[in-house]
Amino acid sequence: MSSIGDRVAWLRDTLLRLLPHTTRPGLRRVGSPGPDSPVLLTCNFTLTVRRMMDALEGRDLWLLVADSHGINVWCAAGGGHLTHHDVIAVVRSSGIADLVSHRRLVLPQLAATGVERRIVEERTGFDVSWGPARLEELPAYLDAKMHVKRRWRRMHFPLWERLEMALMWAAPVMLIAGLVLWALTSAPIAALGAGSLGLSIFGIFAGLRWLPAQGGRRWLTYAGGALFGWSLAAALTSVIATPDAHDLAWLGFANVLAMLVLSLDLAGTTPWYPSTINTTKNHFSVELDAERCTGAADCVRVCPREVLKMKGKARKVAIDNPDACLRCGACVVQCPEDALHFRFDDGRLVPAEQVRRTRMNMLGRRSVEAG
Ligand code: SF4
Repeated sequence: MSSIGDRVAWLRDTLLRLLPHTTRPGLRRVGSPGPDSPVLLTCNFTLTVRRMMDALEGRDLWLLVADSHGINVWCAAGGGHLTHHDVIAVVRSSGIADLVSHRRLVLPQLAATGVERRIVEERTGFDVSWGPARLEELPAYLDAKMHVKRRWRRMHFPLWERLEMALMWAAPVMLIAGLVLWALTSAPIAALGAGSLGLSIFGIFAGLRWLPAQGGRRWLTYAGGALFGWSLAAALTSVIATPDAHDLAWLGFANVLAMLVLSLDLAGTTPWYPSTINTTKNHFSVELDAERCTGAADCVRVCPREVLKMKGKARKVAIDNPDACLRCGACVVQCPEDALHFRFDDGRLVPAEQVRRTRMNMLGRRSVEAG
């Protein structure tokens, strides 16, 4: 990212990242690629492509941009907007097979919830491998001769990314709340109300790792956020004016409403937590049929939480850290032996084929049904 125009575009794309934002699918040349250059694939979410081009600056490679309807890789793959069909389509339409002398295609690891590797390989003739979970690791991955280190498979959300997510939510909430408060009270009170809302939202996202985000206790977070925002706005307002009961009531209403809107996000768009919908009432877990496991390790390579590990002399897969599981389904989708499935706590089973057909909804829920 160099010019002011690029920075403005980055800010625009970041603020609007809540919405699908498309860029042209197809083939991009990064640097001066040749027949031996690596072939990487990503989605056509503008922000992802922009960041990928930044991360890959100075490299020579081919970048295939698949049509994901302008949605980021993880959400698109989970929601059925980035599938093996989209990958096959861009491989074929780009003519990449005529441009390279090898047959190796690197897919983003987080596409594994929706892109079935074996189908891409069968229909394109390319050998598919999974790249790192985060695109920031791509330069190191290329330097490591495209060998993924274990830690690069793990998905995590550092503070700056959580704050960026906060910006995505805070910007529209502050704008709408500010305009409504302006109409109902006055410009200074509206500005302070919107500002306090923004601070609450940033505070919540900064503390996501430590805040209760499950079940009833989750609402403590929002109640605390609303109370904090309201108190701050009331205190600041009293410095510049004497707020009456009417002003305070609207400030309180705006804060409560903002927290209700925000509660949708913590349910799923911040996968740091398991979806709040996956509660004890409707709880399912990934389960392994050890008899079927041949130790292919496809599941280990796509798990973003290091739940699965190779163990024992027989080098078979074991579920090592079940509490960390996001129920994303990537392992179930990719297992060539159908050795993994989901099971509800009451015993109902969700077979692999059903998981492959089920997409996540906007709250990050793979709303599986027992077969
Ligand atoms: S073990 Fe859980 S987190 Fe890991 S890939 Fe499977 S469903 Fe996703």
